[in-house]
Amino acid sequence: MAEQILIIEDEPSIADNITYALSTEGFGAHWCNTAAAGLEHLRENETSLVVLDVGLPDASGFDVAREIRSFSEVPIIFLTARAEEIDRVVGLELGADDYVVKPFSPRELVARIRAVLRRSLKREQESVEAEHSQFTINEQSYLITYQGEKLDLTRYEFRLLRILVKSPGRVYSREHLMQLAWEEPDMSLERTVDTHIKTIRHKLKKITPQTDPIITHRGIGYSLKEDE
Ligand code: CA
Repeated sequence: MAEQILIIEDEPSIADNITYALSTEGFGAHWCNTAAAGLEHLRENETSLVVLDVGLPDASGFDVAREIRSFSEVPIIFLTARAEEIDRVVGLELGADDYVVKPFSPRELVARIRAVLRRSLKREQESVEAEHSQFTINEQSYLITYQGEKLDLTRYEFRLLRILVKSPGRVYSREHLMQLAWEEPDMSLERTVDTHIKTIRHKLKKITPQTDPIITHRGIGYSLKEDE
């Protein structure tokens, strides 16, 4: 399937040019003209890369990038119009992979997109490690596979399961899991850990109905069954 590129840009003529250049080069393209529509699309659709305009009508591209990073490691290329924007983009605190200054040639942008995708594929391959014979973790795409099948996990489910998979056999208390997985751990909400473990188990059970690789330690917490 073609790589899907999401374009978040409010100027139709620019979006049209990019879309056209992408489709002639074999990419899929989807255009959103507001930050809100772009984020919504990204949350619901497999996307290889985002082309993000800094000046959007409903939000700054910087805020959009920050929001994207809270749930996805998808590569981002900024479109900037002004020198002061470039300074901020180059700061790279925002996790952008590249930027292109307006006006630009769509061909140049497509070349940059190819380069960023190549780099990110390489990164992705390097970060795939087998932690456990039945699980693999891909940090770049927030993906964990179980018995070779992709698990569809929420952000906290991913973080919790990653902790367990990285140290099979190690028992973690609820409190410790909460501290490791949540940005703002709230100890009054330790039950939240149980709720997430429950939904993770449910997802694992869909793949192996007979076995449960997560062990409950009553009154303490959880561990992952060690490799046999
Ligand atoms: Ca704009």
